[in-house]
Amino acid sequence: MPFYDYHCHACGKNVRIFLSYAEYDTAVATCPHCQSDQLKRRLSRITIAKSEDARMDSLLDDPSLANLDEDDPRAMGKFMRRMSQETGEDMGEEFNEVVERLEKGESPDSIEQSMPDLGNDIS
Ligand SMILES: [Zn+2]
Repeated sequence: MPFYDYHCHACGKNVRIFLSYAEYDTAVATCPHCQSDQLKRRLSRITIAKSEDARMDSLLDDPSLANLDEDDPRAMGKFMRRMSQETGEDMGEEFNEVVERLEKGESPDSIEQSMPDLGNDIS
């Protein structure tokens, strides 16, 4: 689960708050120490410094992804979408198309055959 670092202007503490992606859009973060909402988002050096491997590890800690069934295209698609969200990188049109088709339940083999230019990282 992603976390966000804040500085609380009410009590002066630096706090770390865990929010899901869905929550981050809508939730108002409140200080766990004084319940104030006077929180200012801090740039998270930890997130930036995290290596690719560490990000993968934290993804695999996610219980909904830990039991990834590689034979299930929808699970694969979901995993790949999460992966690209986690890295925050634009993976390109081909990647997005593959993810969408996986999520619709199309098999990786059939996607691969219809996209001959595709790299070997989907197999
Ligand atoms: Zn506070």
